[in-house]
Amino acid sequence: MADTAPPPGPQPDHYDPDWVRAKHAHERAKRLRQDAVDQFVEVTAEFSHYADDPYVERDERDPVDDEVGVLIVGAGLGGLLAAVRLQEVGITGTRLVDKAGDVGGTWYWNRYPGAQCDIESYIYMPLLEELGHVPTERYAHAPEIREHLAEIARRYGLYDDALFQTGVTEMVWDDALKRWIVSTDRGDRITASVVVVSPGSLHRPKLPGIPGINEFRGHTFHTSRWDYGYTGGDESGGLTGLRDKAVGVIGTGATGLQIVPQVGRWAGQLYVFQRTPNAVDVRANRPTDPEWAAGLEPGWQRERMENFTRVTAGAEVERGNDLVDDGWTEVAFEVTAPAVVNEIARRGGDMSMEEIVDFLYEKDYWSMQRVRDRIDSIVTDEETAEALKPWYKRLCKRLGFHDEYLQAFNRDNVELVDTDGRGIERLTTGGVVVGGVEYPVDALIFATGYEVGTTYTRRTGFDIVGRDGVRLSEKWKDGPRTFHGLQSHGFPNCFFLGYTQTGIAHNYTHTAEERARHLAYLLGQWAERGTRTIEADLAAEDEWVRTMRELAGPGVEFFRDCTPSYLDTEGDHENPDSLLAAGYGGGPVEFFELLARWRATGTMDGVTLD
Ligand code: NDP
Repeated sequence: MADTAPPPGPQPDHYDPDWVRAKHAHERAKRLRQDAVDQFVEVTAEFSHYADDPYVERDERDPVDDEVGVLIVGAGLGGLLAAVRLQEVGITGTRLVDKAGDVGGTWYWNRYPGAQCDIESYIYMPLLEELGHVPTERYAHAPEIREHLAEIARRYGLYDDALFQTGVTEMVWDDALKRWIVSTDRGDRITASVVVVSPGSLHRPKLPGIPGINEFRGHTFHTSRWDYGYTGGDESGGLTGLRDKAVGVIGTGATGLQIVPQVGRWAGQLYVFQRTPNAVDVRANRPTDPEWAAGLEPGWQRERMENFTRVTAGAEVERGNDLVDDGWTEVAFEVTAPAVVNEIARRGGDMSMEEIVDFLYEKDYWSMQRVRDRIDSIVTDEETAEALKPWYKRLCKRLGFHDEYLQAFNRDNVELVDTDGRGIERLTTGGVVVGGVEYPVDALIFATGYEVGTTYTRRTGFDIVGRDGVRLSEKWKDGPRTFHGLQSHGFPNCFFLGYTQTGIAHNYTHTAEERARHLAYLLGQWAERGTRTIEADLAAEDEWVRTMRELAGPGVEFFRDCTPSYLDTEGDHENPDSLLAAGYGGGPVEFFELLARWRATGTMDGVTLD
């Protein structure tokens, strides 16, 4: 897309709202592309090896032909939590099925050096109190998280019946049997009373559709399939295989931030190819204080998790009530609803909508200016510092935090190659071309994220055939249609976890926890009442779809002047499979409360048990 917004000139030395708006519009116009999510390459056919599992050998086994009560597709955090909450209502014998070689989901796949959670581990790592574990660090590293998820599976006996390295290929409802018939790529044929699909929200690696992507002859891999055979070392570093190599990293999102310091430490030469600068704030990780851990009262994790979501969703206005008190909550108080509430109190009167918009815009500018000033204070080369400065509203992208990323650019062997919002021009057989200059590299690491905005069944990799042969791919061709995000009419005894018309919290674990609780309630009722099927009513589903659409307005409006990203399907706000369409517009707090109220009525309104 051609630049439509002219450059606004140098940054004034004071806050000038017109200049900031013009600057945002200028940067956005450079970055916006007509092809939106189609700019990416799907990891199929000649690119399918990018999704191969580098962590385990393929384990040969005979096909399974048996019957289970509940089958959960996806043994990540969401699937594990669901299985555990089901056990708590007496539903045992759940079978987990996953393509991966073990449990863990995103933490199974993401083993890149330096990987750690970007939400505080005390609220991100599930079931801490149940397991009696307190993470060793405030933002735990991947091996600890992976081991914790494996420990959950061990404690709750979820390994016993699990099938790994197994991809579901189809699920078909048998209306006579009142059961699902599940087929897999291992030739299994499993009959299940209930199926739960928990595919994760961001799980299918994507590649940038850069001209020449299949011409490059050097070594390549995606960050979620890290090739330690090539780089040497492990998740803590020691990438000795890169010592004499020139390496290119494409992508400066949450993953890029974490790997650049590691690769920079070991590679002979590192080029970081940047399209949009990340807004990198202070991380301040630290070991867990044993005294603090010893003083935690029962119920602490739930309370802390709920508090974080209330704060980051703008529902908690008292800074003193902020339990987590980190970079995420700081930004929430800076640029979201609490800032307005506190300003109204300070002024001792109301603010018009226009005043609120202007006030938040200025607050946002200062929040981002803090981030830009931090770059100047760390990065010694002025040109590099300038190129690293982000120009968009704070919440246009997932917040970034790191205390070694910016510092990496002070190394002699690390060079930022800024593509000025336009992305890489092309790849050659031996390098990357930006602005007409070729950068020769031995290896290219794609930190380019995951598929979003494609259909649900494309992302899961299989179709679900409901009553009367209706396919989910057909029913959801214009986006998901659910009741409360979990069930879809015509698909009895089938439940969806992940981001399908649900409240989305910044802390994915909180969303997963609430979904698991609701699922456990529904299936608890199903088991208690001894019915064979449980299904959403069409009218309730239609109403929920309408509600989702009605409430989507403000979210879409917020992204209207944002730099594109996966959060807004690369600027395509009409995409029915976008995260914007998947998230309940009233916010996660309202959504979780709505579900709790619905459960409290005990009437199962909108759901038929037959
Ligand atoms: P993202 O989608 O956030 O980032 C992809 C990066 O690739 C962006 O910097 C993008 O640039 C860049 N890119 C894409 N196409 C091109 C191109 N043609 N030329 C140059 N650059 C290109 O993926 P991530 O893996 O970083 O993160 C995804 C999400 O996963 C996070 O937001 C977070 O939710 C989760 N995550 C969580 C972590 C944690 O908890 N520890 C760690 C890592 C990820 P541009 O910015 O211009 O789009």
